Amino acid sequence: MKEDFYDILGVSKGASSGEIKKAYRKKAIEFHPDKNPGDKAAEINFKKAAEAYEVLSDSRKKSQYDQFGHAAFESGGFGGGGMNMDDIFSQFGDIFGSAFGGNFDGFSSGFGQGQSRGKGSNLRIKVGLSLEEIVNGVDKKIKVKRKVQAPGVTYSSCSTCKGTGQIMRVTNTILGRMQSSSPCPACNGSGQTLSNRPAGSDSNGMIENEETVSIKIPAGVEEGMQLKVTGKGNEATGNGIAGDLLVLIEEIPHDNFVREGNHLHLDLYISISEAVLGVTKEISLLEGKVRIKLESGIQSGKTLRLRSKGVGDLNGYGKGDLLVHVNVWTPKELNKEQKQFFKKMIEDDNFKPAPSKTDKSFFEKVKDMFS
Ligand SMILES: [Zn+2]
Repeated sequence: MKEDFYDILGVSKGASSGEIKKAYRKKAIEFHPDKNPGDKAAEINFKKAAEAYEVLSDSRKKSQYDQFGHAAFESGGFGGGGMNMDDIFSQFGDIFGSAFGGNFDGFSSGFGQGQSRGKGSNLRIKVGLSLEEIVNGVDKKIKVKRKVQAPGVTYSSCSTCKGTGQIMRVTNTILGRMQSSSPCPACNGSGQTLSNRPAGSDSNGMIENEETVSIKIPAGVEEGMQLKVTGKGNEATGNGIAGDLLVLIEEIPHDNFVREGNHLHLDLYISISEAVLGVTKEISLLEGKVRIKLESGIQSGKTLRLRSKGVGDLNGYGKGDLLVHVNVWTPKELNKEQKQFFKKMIEDDNFKPAPSKTDKSFFEKVKDMFS
């Protein structure tokens, strides 16, 4: 029995296209192969999520699926075989928004030469970002070792395929004459062969070159996301186009703040006396400071929400909040005098816990968070 596409993404049948996209984004990040190297189960989940999204993001396929379930696709073109990794990655520009395409030099020229052109292989690197860099966005300069054509290398048109990169074959079958094409074995489909190989270059006339690549990282990126810098992967031979540089984002944990989506969490410690009497505290934010007033009688575990003091949304939909969690610090050692004071208070009714309905327990607060 094939799993339900809505269940795979963890959304309800009535989910909006925005919710479906968001759910898929989350799964894609969670099960991304770069984050789960060698993990077969993660790879399967990654593919399942992509397949579910492929259907649910297309209104026509979605309505067929809603009507007929998986049976809708069993005899059609979209078979149960699923998608390969390249298909999945090519979906990502759509999922992760404009920041994953528009900001980088585009592909616009280069095609349309009337023949197939080889493409250099992609390079992958990881970039660790501090929370400050994520909040503000950052231009990173990163050293990359990429293969480039050696100075002085020349290529000429392949004589086997006459520069087309393809070999046509005509075969006679019982169905008639069939024409098929396949990549030229002499030039591996590039249409070019090496005519002058400079000393020190490899068999394709390439050398390894260390370059500094400038990467514009937009504010609000998340762990596991992948940015593409077009054309900064390995160069191809001849007049082929260079591969891409794929940049995997890693978050460096912050000493004080914990990120949850676009929200930030902060633990604030106050003394028993401050909790009893009330206090104004200055909090250092990632940028600037803010003063918050804690009322007298504030409870440990209380959460204060500072609107729009979190992380800016990647697609520009406002900012998350800063959630300040109040913790009352209990002293571990007391002198004689202090001990006497607290001993006296232990009998005092005013010191006995008497939570009201508004003092929500931790469990109720967690419940609220997910509702
Ligand atoms: Zn050839």
